Amino acid sequence: MTFNSNFDRGGGGRVTTSSGSGGGGLGGMPIAVGGGGIGTLIILALVYFLGGGLGGGGQVPGAQSQGGGAGDYNLDHCNSANAANEYDDCRVEATMYSVDDVWQRVLPEQAGIEYTQPGMHLFRNDVTTGCGHATSATGPFYCPTDTTAYLDISFFEQLGQLGGSDGPLAQEYAVAHEMGHHIQNLEGTLGLSDYNNPGEDSAAVAIELQADCYAGLWANHATEGPDAILDPITREQLAQAVQTARAIGDDNIQKRSGGQVNPDAWTHGSSQQREEAFMAGYDSGKMSSCDFLNRGVYSS
Ligand SMILES: [Zn+2]
Repeated sequence: MTFNSNFDRGGGGRVTTSSGSGGGGLGGMPIAVGGGGIGTLIILALVYFLGGGLGGGGQVPGAQSQGGGAGDYNLDHCNSANAANEYDDCRVEATMYSVDDVWQRVLPEQAGIEYTQPGMHLFRNDVTTGCGHATSATGPFYCPTDTTAYLDISFFEQLGQLGGSDGPLAQEYAVAHEMGHHIQNLEGTLGLSDYNNPGEDSAAVAIELQADCYAGLWANHATEGPDAILDPITREQLAQAVQTARAIGDDNIQKRSGGQVNPDAWTHGSSQQREEAFMAGYDSGKMSSCDFLNRGVYSS
């Protein structure tokens, strides 16, 4: 159990949903992970992923049939803390409430910036976003154009193929990482990332590690106070989050996809770097511990 009886979804609707056309035949198709592509997202603007080489196919040239209809996918079943602990999509939504709680306190306190809520959109099959068209194979990503993160919960199964965990904090970490990119967007630093200029010491890796660190920072603060909707984090849950951070390290993805480990191609950092970044945020709860861009602008 992670979410407790403090969790009140109110009228709901924090997370939007859609069920795409599945026109690409992705419906029941097993999705290869670690193919080195970034799925079939047609990039109109920069997007920021959870994992560097996740996603099956290469980019698809030209337009595809669009999904985007409301379909029959909704979160009506996410009506309690129990549901948030039982269903992956409800857990994603509950995590968003917690992320909002934490960052609307922390961001003004530590960075002097007002927090504005990002969107979170859960889709099935495919989706059209402010950054282009994406499919389930794309993996979770944040689109700054519409300040929304996109995720198909089938991704959590794909994570297992890389050695990730499907434990609750591991899934919450994925959500909190994408929200880390939203924080960077509010800070005005997100655009420093450039996946076309990768490498161990690149800005891309620094931005991704900072998003991992911000995810850890969220976990640190998420259990604070009598109104916290998240129960204290157990050692086991923490280990599962770390296991997942390591699984989506670039070196692990490179190895698992049969390639050589090549730091010059990294966009997200190694397993060790991702673990350390998450833990730096988790241990300290401080944005200053996540200052991989060396800005020196955070209160300590
Ligand atoms: Zn990312």
